[in-house]
Amino acid sequence: MTLTVLEPATERVLAELPRAGVEDADAAVARAKAAFGAWRAVSPPDRARLLHRLADSLQLRHEELAVLEARNAGKPIADARGELGMVVDTFRYYAAAPERALGDTIPVPGGIAMTFREPIGVVALITPWNFPLTIASWKLAPALAAGNTVVLKPAELTPLTALEFERIALEAGIPEGVVNVVAGPGSTAGARLVEHPDVAKVAFTGSTEVGRRIAAGAAQTIKRVTLELGGKSANVVFADADLQAAAAAAPSAVFGNAGQDCCARSRILVERSALDAFMEALEESVEALRVGDPLDEATQMGPLISAGQRETVASFVPPDAPVAIRGSAPDGPGYWFPPTVLCPVEPDDRAVREEIFGPVAVVVPFRDEAEAVALANDTIYGLSGSIWTRDGAKALRVARAVETGVLSINSNSSVRVATPFGGFKQSGYGRELGPHAVDHYTEVKTVYYAT
Ligand code: NDP
Repeated sequence: MTLTVLEPATERVLAELPRAGVEDADAAVARAKAAFGAWRAVSPPDRARLLHRLADSLQLRHEELAVLEARNAGKPIADARGELGMVVDTFRYYAAAPERALGDTIPVPGGIAMTFREPIGVVALITPWNFPLTIASWKLAPALAAGNTVVLKPAELTPLTALEFERIALEAGIPEGVVNVVAGPGSTAGARLVEHPDVAKVAFTGSTEVGRRIAAGAAQTIKRVTLELGGKSANVVFADADLQAAAAAAPSAVFGNAGQDCCARSRILVERSALDAFMEALEESVEALRVGDPLDEATQMGPLISAGQRETVASFVPPDAPVAIRGSAPDGPGYWFPPTVLCPVEPDDRAVREEIFGPVAVVVPFRDEAEAVALANDTIYGLSGSIWTRDGAKALRVARAVETGVLSINSNSSVRVATPFGGFKQSGYGRELGPHAVDHYTEVKTVYYAT
């Protein structure tokens, strides 16, 4: 069977590959299992050196990988370069982890107890199409640093950088069998990894619906699971904020990556007294957004990933939708959709409640701080969000009250290599990045020594 990979900006074929199935998943798990003993035995400084060499090799191939990612995912080349930079930084950051896998010594009667952080074994990494190699690196780097071997299943739509990564890892000296990539469908290759008795953990990023299925499947063999799922994050703008700054930043916070971002601030909550001024400034910044060819240096937003995704996104903007602002998008081939802002919207409108995963935002006015918090929390999700105000105490009160894993005050940033990232509620569990992500790829062992 063949896997045909398309370029979303042109709808042309970018690559044809063999499509991996259940047998390929089994073979990859067998290779990873065979390689585990030797990989966990590599001394911490040597494992650190290998991860640095891997980062060096990725750095050398940075531009080539960025162009491949931009073409396959339809993302602006400037964004792809930034993301590939993060991939390199993530391997460097976790290269320090093997030598910091510290345990405790605990005084107990009759002897001493000590703890060790042991690798778990074969870890399956199942990743989405929106930030292909970046999200993979958030899992690969800590998993490998901790001494696990991995089977990575990228999304079928965007397997190309993952397959390159497998080759680069080998060239950088990571032993054969430690990194295995299976480019096949979730329903066969992915599901097999979830049920496989020799897989000890599944680290997943994707939709809440598939995450639920993975958690249920993994329960059969009590696999460890971390889930990074959907979001419907709120961008809360108070009337005392720098409204120009908030409105200038709002488009990239929801239309970045064409809205295909689990951290997208797709609900913009605005204090009613500032609504008109904010909408006026927002219109200007949405209309200024440059939508077009991902390989053009000036492009800020590319196409959607697929025809199916465009159909899904379009279903949130029916002909009678309350479109307040509509940006531009190219005509012709490519899965284009213009940046769109809906206002006013009914509280139970699908566009207000569901993750759209496209360039569509809703603007909802609020009366006061209490209502802002209630609206921000009125969702099954809790991944990210922003608060814009010049009142520091209010910013911190609201930050503590909003049920979400990552928040930004007077900014829309969500993800940094050095800080934990992950969700509350149905946005998932476990944390990626930051100093503690490695904990999710280890088991704590307690050893008692009778003296
Ligand atoms: P999915 O959750 O379906 O896909 C994510 C990954 O899981 C892919 O590698 C997919 O494989 C795999 N997968 C699918 N089904 C299974 C299964 N039964 N067992 C194991 N692995 C599986 O996301 P979609 O691509 O379908 O996107 C749908 C929606 O999900 C989006 O519109 C968005 O709302 C949300 N989403 C959220 C993301 C996030 O970052 N939180 C990322 C992507 C999507 P394959 O695709 O190859 O079949």
